[in-house]
Amino acid sequence: MTVHGAWERTARGAMLLGADGELRPTIFAEMSALAASTGAINLGQGFPDEDGPPEVLEAARQAISDGINQYPPGIGLPVLRNAIAAHQKRFYGLPVDADHEVLVTAGATEALTATILALTDDGDELVTLEPFYDSYAAIAGLNRLKHVTVPLRGEHFQPDHDELRAAVTDRTRIILINDPHNPTGSILKRETLELIVELAHQHDAIIVTDEVYEHLTFDEPHVPITTLPAAWERTVTISSGGKTFNTTGWKIGWVTGPRDYVEAILAVKQYLTFVNGAPFQPAIAVGLGLPDSYFAGAAAALKAKSELLSAGLEKAGFTVSRPQGGYFVIADAAPLGFTDAEAAARELPHLAGVVAIPLTAFVRPENRGPYASKLRFAFCKRADVLERAAAQLAELRR
Ligand code: PMP
Ligand code: GLN
Repeated sequence: MTVHGAWERTARGAMLLGADGELRPTIFAEMSALAASTGAINLGQGFPDEDGPPEVLEAARQAISDGINQYPPGIGLPVLRNAIAAHQKRFYGLPVDADHEVLVTAGATEALTATILALTDDGDELVTLEPFYDSYAAIAGLNRLKHVTVPLRGEHFQPDHDELRAAVTDRTRIILINDPHNPTGSILKRETLELIVELAHQHDAIIVTDEVYEHLTFDEPHVPITTLPAAWERTVTISSGGKTFNTTGWKIGWVTGPRDYVEAILAVKQYLTFVNGAPFQPAIAVGLGLPDSYFAGAAAALKAKSELLSAGLEKAGFTVSRPQGGYFVIADAAPLGFTDAEAAARELPHLAGVVAIPLTAFVRPENRGPYASKLRFAFCKRADVLERAAAQLAELRR
């Protein structure tokens, strides 16, 4: 029996391997490979095609030259932990203790995994919104959690408060939100955040909030749920430098929250990666200290790109849900005659030379109905690339 063969028969293997026993790539890897093989414009996987601030890039080069090339401390280099604490104070008025309430991780991905692994037991319930970022379901599966979802409804993809109330029970261990939201580009209303805090108290649940798009909101400043009254004490906040500084490949993320949670998460994290990215840590610290104009400029530039692509998609015949933040716009392909987003995503590179992700990739099979004909397009690309994509998509109407 090969190791692979044995693993395939485990519950985890069954989840991560396809029916044929082959390793199933994530939807992002699959669609990026499709873009590469067809030469189509890749508006699938969310990564920018331009470098971020030169000061940040230079700081990483300098750190390598300065010999910051060995294992950093498990909780992260002090310069980055201090910068994260200063950032929370500066943008949100939150007094965070850099020595006990901050933990540096290998991207938000490791922060999510370590947090959920640290704070749950087999069989606990994890409540997320749906559609959800793909790793949430995988983490639930790997940790033997019951994944309960609350659908996002309507043009602005908001959860219904009664459905949220019904989903959170005494069995709920973690309410995991993502705000601003991938894949829909929506932002949760303050009343919804308040309800989540209320439900967490009522059912003794922990709030885990994935805020990797915190600086990429288009009309209003971001409101971290942990700033709401009575929220901090039961909230773990996760972010990452990837989106804010166009450095998705650096994988520098972090957790902030009460000391007890941070210590539990560190206990797990030390056996996942131990540490990562020594020279990138001081560089992200430089980024977090950039003037307000950098952060405002990044959000404004992305807003302009979202408008450019949204207008192009509308012109091409899609029905578009205009995003309020993040990297992505949802476009309904039904008006163009597509009823199945997965088929549409496979055909689009051949029909229009553009790759998108079917929204159903972020939804459990039984809940696909309302999302069946919708596609997610990334607009974190150069304006000329978006213009070219829009022009190619316009051909779909002919
Ligand atoms: N959460 C969300 C909602 C994301 O969109 C992403 C990446 N695009 C991540 C987490 C992962 O972040 P990182 O690359 O820092 O691991
Ligand atoms: N988060 C990015 C997206 O949603 C991709 C990250 C990944 O490939 N895992 O497109």
